[in-house]
Amino acid sequence: MIGKTPITGDPVILAPGREERPNVYDGAPCPFCPGAEDQTPPEIARDGDPWRIRVFPNRYPPTEHAEVVVESAMHDDEFDALSPDHAQRAIEITFDRYHALASKAAYVCIFKNHGRQAGASIPHLHSQLVGTSFVPPRPKREGEAFVRAISCPLCNSTAHPLIGETKHYRWIAPRGARFAWQQWIVPKAHEHDLVEPYELASLMQSSARAMRGISEAFNWVFITFPHERSGHWYLELFPRTAMIAGFEIGSDVFVNTAMSETVAGLFSDFMS
Ligand SMILES: [Zn+2]
Ligand SMILES: [Zn+2]
Repeated sequence: MIGKTPITGDPVILAPGREERPNVYDGAPCPFCPGAEDQTPPEIARDGDPWRIRVFPNRYPPTEHAEVVVESAMHDDEFDALSPDHAQRAIEITFDRYHALASKAAYVCIFKNHGRQAGASIPHLHSQLVGTSFVPPRPKREGEAFVRAISCPLCNSTAHPLIGETKHYRWIAPRGARFAWQQWIVPKAHEHDLVEPYELASLMQSSARAMRGISEAFNWVFITFPHERSGHWYLELFPRTAMIAGFEIGSDVFVNTAMSETVAGLFSDFMS
């Protein structure tokens, strides 16, 4: 169910059923492990037999279109520990599900909450897709900013310190990042929606390895512009070193304790 904030009318999702979801960190059995397949809704996609990647609808969905991608059968696996082809397949399947959900939702957010401090309730390696019936404020606001911009801020390859690059992507430490140690992976070509999953998966593994040197908990979030061709999609990744606290909530302004040059200098060692 969708509500609105009282003054600006920004959307709010009302999902009281999510209170029921198990917290594996507090001792609930893991519903994502092999043998517990009956604890999740019927699967939508899988890779391998026995499976190494599984996709199913979220049992406690925040919206009507919410799916979970379990990226490994091993409970304690890490994204950066997957073999390169396994990680690539995981991102390829995630992109497939993104495109499938995009035909039913106005916007689809792909994200990973890894570790309790990043908002996970289940430690087992997984990512999520949540489709909404509206374009959420962040991609909407950013899409409008791309329309207004004289030149695309993400096509400028010298604006932000470079951590590493592949043929199709730049991994950068953006100036003006909201979180310490935040990085963006940006397609070099001006694309408004997801394209190449393979080089991306490899950069995401490098980033996960780098971030886990800072904190075991991290998030990644895809920002895409399916309805705004002026937009330039990107992936934002950051380890969790601080909570979002009173000042951030009261001002929508973030305090970042790490300079982009420092992030680029340290993380470039993790380029594989
Ligand atoms: Zn598990
Ligand atoms: Zn661009």
